[in-house]
Amino acid sequence: MGIAPFVPGLCLAQADSGRSASEPDRRPNIVYIMTDDHACQAVGAYGHPIARLAPTPNIDRLARAGILFRESFVENSISAPSRATLLTGMYSHHHGQTTLQYGIMDTTCVHFPELLQEAGYETALFGKWHLSIEPKGFDWYDIFYDQGEYYNPVMRTPETDGAYLRQEGYATQIVTDHALAWLDAHREDGRPFCLMIHHKAPHRNWMAERRYLELYEDVEFPEPPTLFDDYATRGDQMRQQQLTIDKHMGYAFDFKVEELKDEPTLPYIRASWDLAMQTLTPEERQAWDEAYARMNRDFLAQRPEGRDLLRWKYQRFIHDYCRTIRSVDDQIGRVLDYLEAHGLAENTIVVYASDQGFFLGEHGLYDKRFMYEEAFRTPLIMAWPGHIRPGTECRELVQNIDWAPTLLDVAGVVPPASMDGRSLVPLFGNGRAKGWRRALYYQYYDYPAVGNVRLHYGIRTDRYKLIHWYGPGEAGDPDIDCWELYDLKRDPHEVHNVCDDPHYRKVRARLEAQLNRERQRIGAE
Ligand code: CA
Repeated sequence: MGIAPFVPGLCLAQADSGRSASEPDRRPNIVYIMTDDHACQAVGAYGHPIARLAPTPNIDRLARAGILFRESFVENSISAPSRATLLTGMYSHHHGQTTLQYGIMDTTCVHFPELLQEAGYETALFGKWHLSIEPKGFDWYDIFYDQGEYYNPVMRTPETDGAYLRQEGYATQIVTDHALAWLDAHREDGRPFCLMIHHKAPHRNWMAERRYLELYEDVEFPEPPTLFDDYATRGDQMRQQQLTIDKHMGYAFDFKVEELKDEPTLPYIRASWDLAMQTLTPEERQAWDEAYARMNRDFLAQRPEGRDLLRWKYQRFIHDYCRTIRSVDDQIGRVLDYLEAHGLAENTIVVYASDQGFFLGEHGLYDKRFMYEEAFRTPLIMAWPGHIRPGTECRELVQNIDWAPTLLDVAGVVPPASMDGRSLVPLFGNGRAKGWRRALYYQYYDYPAVGNVRLHYGIRTDRYKLIHWYGPGEAGDPDIDCWELYDLKRDPHEVHNVCDDPHYRKVRARLEAQLNRERQRIGAE
């Protein structure tokens, strides 16, 4: 991206006032790119060792050109709630989409693209939607069915009358193709645009693009220090959850060992493998089978056990996960190149985010849902020449409730009072702002559900995290009511719950009071 003269974080809500009809519309374009389950540990710019072995040069290019939010979090670490929060700027309990269940979102909430559209923006959305309500505020959209598929996904537009049509190719590329084709058709319209590109990758079950099926095969990724976490200081929720790499992933669906597809596993996993394989064309299936036959040969001959088996599973999982991210990074590069080639880069804010973070083997886990760091965090990068100083790092606590107010502010639209978050524009100057928030609230509601993660809520400051696990048990689980407290400065990997440690009595009392005040302030239940 080019570098224009730097304008420190200013109140942009007035930026467009006084523009007459004869003047060109210089309001910035917005390109918002979001992946699904992309952990900070696998984004090069965040500096984790995994990303040194599986780099993301195009996402890093964006970070170098703009601002990297080091302390970026979600308020409810799972897809549909996070997507509803992106659109509304609200906590889950305010927009109603607290879980993955369809039909529960408050349909009267204002979505930020509606306000952009009213203000004269052209708006479009491509890729994963994952909400049961119709997209609101978009001139055009082309969206996946449900979670979407990696290969030959079905998609629908406003013109297909609700019908999903199969698209030929790999999802990450298809979504980008459609987005760039839309830009081709609209970039000369003279109106600013908001283009949202929502990838399926790197969501489970991590099906790599054909040319990347064997990428990184010679690489051994570092194991996280908590891969063999025994949960010694934790409550019962960790013994009830079903999200471990060791016990709760499927040989075929997750690890791509077709030969072992009938090994005992959670029932939904077996059926999911068959559905995933049905999306491949015969040629794709042949390439797939040949690649995994080569990669599975040693494993099937040796059949490791115990810790070695978990190590093998971790490696296979992280390899496939990073393979899908390689395609994402390629396609982000295409978008950035397009903006530069067509003179759009100077006046466009580009945002990169994920709908939440993900465990890459930390605590022996995959998936999200928990308030533990790797799932609670989410990557967030923004670049905007002339308004964000290249290479800025922000260590203030930011959350996905802030994203809608930020994009409205950037466009010169005053965020409505209904939004819980606040614009991040004041942080664009040097990553700091006076009077910024001191704590984040989190709540998870999706129980009973896949993963069997118990209900919890909590508060996180720059140093501590207090979590309350609560609620009646379902299907044989006992009721639960327990607390966890982590000192993130001394215990960044969250393995020492100090909730009952007398040294932390005052800290706990202070955090409990803070948590109660926060719950009252935002009306959490
Ligand atoms: Ca997700």
